[in-house]
Amino acid sequence: MSKSHLSKENLIFKTPVNEKIYLREQKGLFQKIRRSLSIVLMAIFVFIPFIQYKGMQAVFFDLQQQKLHIFSFTLYPQDLYIVSLGFILAAFLLFYVTQFFGRIWCGFTCPQTIWMLIFNWVERRVEGTHNQSKSLDIQSLSRQKVIKKLTKHLIWSAISLFTSLVFISYFVTVEQLYLPFFTFQSSTLVVSWVVFFAVCTYINAGWIREKMCQHMCPYSRIQSAMFDQSTKLVSYDQTRGENRGKRKLSQVKSTEMGDCVDCNLCVQVCPVGIDIRNGLQYECINCGLCIDACDMTMDKFNYQKGLISFAAENQEKQGWQRHLGYGIFVAITIFMMFIWLNSWQSYEVSIIRDRQALYRVNHKGEIENTFILKIRNKSNQTSSYQIQVNGLVDARIIGHSIITIQPGELQTSSLVVMVDQPPAKNRNDISFNIINLDNNTSLLKTTSFYSDNIND
Ligand code: SF4
Ligand code: SF4
Repeated sequence: MSKSHLSKENLIFKTPVNEKIYLREQKGLFQKIRRSLSIVLMAIFVFIPFIQYKGMQAVFFDLQQQKLHIFSFTLYPQDLYIVSLGFILAAFLLFYVTQFFGRIWCGFTCPQTIWMLIFNWVERRVEGTHNQSKSLDIQSLSRQKVIKKLTKHLIWSAISLFTSLVFISYFVTVEQLYLPFFTFQSSTLVVSWVVFFAVCTYINAGWIREKMCQHMCPYSRIQSAMFDQSTKLVSYDQTRGENRGKRKLSQVKSTEMGDCVDCNLCVQVCPVGIDIRNGLQYECINCGLCIDACDMTMDKFNYQKGLISFAAENQEKQGWQRHLGYGIFVAITIFMMFIWLNSWQSYEVSIIRDRQALYRVNHKGEIENTFILKIRNKSNQTSSYQIQVNGLVDARIIGHSIITIQPGELQTSSLVVMVDQPPAKNRNDISFNIINLDNNTSLLKTTSFYSDNIND
């Protein structure tokens, strides 16, 4: 199949005319997929904060304590490594999928697309079809126009407020957010953030809409770097479609006529307002709505479907080699995350020597070294830790060797290690074994024990 302007060299960087898009609603396979995915993703977004795990919100960003709870994991700023790996994985997955199906993330799962879909659905329910909506805008002010516009903006505002509340519930617990907010008992800070994100959602999904995809999203600018000749992109079959021309349903098609009946439906349903018949354009989010629209027309005229379709420039070049590159990076990142998960402990330990004195000889002639021990309990329950010292035969810890720490707390304590006789060397390698008595896991920390031995 010969597709027009399909190669990335032909990618058109053309900004559509900056006028309001009145989106026509379209039924079809791709619209069904988009709607179903939107419902599932929205449900996940809304209900995650309501999940409780061991008496706590399962997913919660505690900004005050600088912690992120994800079920049994509690991440601190020092765990930035795994968060970075998560972002790297997301980026490589995006590139990987783009290589095969272009900007499909934008068309089906991007939050911008989902909220545009919701807001457009409301607009169509309140103002009618895209043509009725257009004529309402050019009508002079009337009671009916004011009611319709007011209703639409009120519903948009309610959706924006709801979106903002859901988003904030990842940072303020559900119990502290919803009831206090609706009974006017929330703090000014919480109210300000809720209003801020509600306004952002309203402006973004209600007014900025497709301009975000066209002008602000950096992904649209770099996407072509990930395309190859086998990338499946929504494209128009120019050989089959041209010469385009309007015709009646009953009209017999002449040999000069192409299959495109110039119904313009593919343009009217396009959320970013482009005409796919002009070739591959960077604004295209690969949503497939023009395919649904065109297939409907083809059906009506009894022509073969697929005048617009997901197609690659080179269908044959589909070998396993395409999985190399981004696929390998995805695998490596998952492997590194797995290693991190495997070595993750619910507590952190650091031991540093006391800076005041290298060692101390007490009145009995015993040698003492002092260390500063810091243990952070990263779990959600109170835990006890036993400290053992190894490396010197008669070394022992003076004072408590078992420490109990509250969840999330960092405890700093002074640790004195003593030997009866000066060891053979001035500097001796020793290690502390810190055992979590709750789950019997241990962490080993090495350091040095100093003494003053005249034989050394
Ligand atoms: S051209 Fe088609 S696939 Fe691309 S954004 Fe418009 S409707 Fe979606
Ligand atoms: S929907 Fe199909 S037939 Fe109608 S204008 Fe677009 S390409 Fe042509």
